[in-house]
Amino acid sequence: MKHSIPTIAALVALGGFMLPANAAGKLCKLEIAGTDLMKYDKEELKVAADCAQVELTLKHTGKLPAQAMGHNWTLVKTPDLTAVANAGMSAGLEKDYIAPGDKRVIAHTKVVGGGQSTSITFPTGTLKKGEDYSFLCTFPGHSALMKGKLVFG
Ligand code: ZN
Repeated sequence: MKHSIPTIAALVALGGFMLPANAAGKLCKLEIAGTDLMKYDKEELKVAADCAQVELTLKHTGKLPAQAMGHNWTLVKTPDLTAVANAGMSAGLEKDYIAPGDKRVIAHTKVVGGGQSTSITFPTGTLKKGEDYSFLCTFPGHSALMKGKLVFG
């Protein structure tokens, strides 16, 4: 036992050093657009099980400013959708309408206005096959129309 700790530390150090640049795994890219009509252009997004990370780009194809028709893209488990939307409502635009520290939020972009776009990259490590995931816009009132399913697996 005496030697186990230095040995593990050495292995971890070596492993870290030897990891190739793509060790984070396959990066899968998704795109979705939001409009001035309070709609996303997709109702479902699919992430294959071999995607280690997802790069999601949200484009606001409208013209209205973020204060009037802001959109974000927020990923949650479907049963958490309403609670996350309600909690985000009072967080304000400067917090992207996401309640600070809301653990139910798996990933989210910032809020963008017309003509803007934003991207996030998040790991799929916490996603489970068969779990029911939804995405939504947490701008107050938008999730009634701006929501869809994310299928992992
Ligand atoms: Zn929105």
